[in-house]
Amino acid sequence: MSCTKCGGYGFIEKYRTLPDGELSSVIDSYPCECRLFQDLDEQAEKSWSGLSRIPVEEGRLFFKEYLKKDVHVTADLKNFALTLRSALWSLSNPLFVVKVVDENMLMSVWLSGIHEDGKKVIDPDFDYSVPARDILGFNRPDLLIVRLGVKSSRNIATPEVLVDVLENRRGAFKPTWVVDSQDKPFRMGHISWSSEGDRILNGFEKIDMTVSVPVILPNAPARANIGLSSVQKKPVPMVAETNKTGNRVTFGLK
Ligand SMILES: [Zn+2]
Repeated sequence: MSCTKCGGYGFIEKYRTLPDGELSSVIDSYPCECRLFQDLDEQAEKSWSGLSRIPVEEGRLFFKEYLKKDVHVTADLKNFALTLRSALWSLSNPLFVVKVVDENMLMSVWLSGIHEDGKKVIDPDFDYSVPARDILGFNRPDLLIVRLGVKSSRNIATPEVLVDVLENRRGAFKPTWVVDSQDKPFRMGHISWSSEGDRILNGFEKIDMTVSVPVILPNAPARANIGLSSVQKKPVPMVAETNKTGNRVTFGLK
């Protein structure tokens, strides 16, 4: 559907008003907000396939503050997706590059070096379609989000690769979110756990997003009276249709 404000052109033209209130013959051109919304949808989709179809929730807009911090998130898929989508919308900066990856992607990139050398890759989760890149490539996004607990087979190098990625990003002064879940918490026995990884995550802020109103855990600064007046006026996109599988909402995210 075409934008009612700009007719789909992406910009609005107006005759400039003179100091006496009359219109001059000069035409000023302004970008229309629909263009920003389109750019924000593209940003969401590039960050995580399917994220642009997730609705924005007003109660989660303040999470934009955490987009530039190291955070250890505990979340189910639904609450995590709603929070990330709302935070990015609130930030309103389509140039801020976010990438959501999982352990399989970290390992596939790391293993691709071995694969390129012609050696046999024995990790059953190895994705041969991932082009060979250096794991320093994970330094590129402004925010990298690593979802843990996605990988099913154990590879002894997984904790080490996670630590490498976290340390590289810290060295580049770029924030990282590490996301685990209640049923697979990041602790001893977790496929990606190591004492070194544990030590790094202890320095991260902790957010529990498993409840519908996310809780900031005690070592994080209080956010109770955060001012949302500047963002509340922002129009919120249409509520997305979600795919229901049984009683689970899948959102169609990968
Ligand atoms: Zn428009």
